[in-house]
Amino acid sequence: MQVNLATKLLRANRDVAAENRERLRKHGIVAVNLISSPGAGKTTLLERTVEALKDKIPMAVIEGDQYTALDGERIERFGVPVVQINTPGGCHLDAGMIATALDSLDLENLRLLIIENVGNLICPAEFDLGEGFKVGVLSVTEGNDKPKKYPVIFQDAQAAIINKVDLLPYVNFSLEHAVQDLQEINPGLKVIPASATRQDGLEEWFNWLLEQM
Ligand code: MG
Ligand code: ZN
Repeated sequence: MQVNLATKLLRANRDVAAENRERLRKHGIVAVNLISSPGAGKTTLLERTVEALKDKIPMAVIEGDQYTALDGERIERFGVPVVQINTPGGCHLDAGMIATALDSLDLENLRLLIIENVGNLICPAEFDLGEGFKVGVLSVTEGNDKPKKYPVIFQDAQAAIINKVDLLPYVNFSLEHAVQDLQEINPGLKVIPASATRQDGLEEWFNWLLEQM
């Protein structure tokens, strides 16, 4: 019987993800895996989230990026622990990278861990990290076809943020269609239209996040 390499890799990843999940559960930590294409606004959303919640909940951030620490530096300014993972050439985080990152965090004193995945809508959706929740971010500049073209992340996510709604007057994007498509892909999905830069719709996101704690 042939088992292809991709299947083997995913199986090995699944086992490590299960260990991460158990480790996080034991410490009572809720972990969120934030996934989107590059430029959808994950880091800006994360900045607003850290700013709003860091004094309410002990939190840390894991930043996944191919090459730079630019996003990590943006988050560090807020004084929360940040672990930077670079994946030179790699297009997603995997469970082993998260296991290593967890080693360097003070898990006893954490309640919320937000993982910003590498900007990519495709394979980050396939690699379980051991998170409690996946959250997909879609921006209105990406076009209405994206949820149906890249459905996997939205199928597996518990929440989706439609970001940059302040740009709706300038782009060919129907918010109504996007919400419809996302709910067709995943009827249980919590869909939150927002603008992270204009600080619009973020209360709903913060409240959703707090409800998961
Ligand atoms: Mg980013
Ligand atoms: Zn990848």
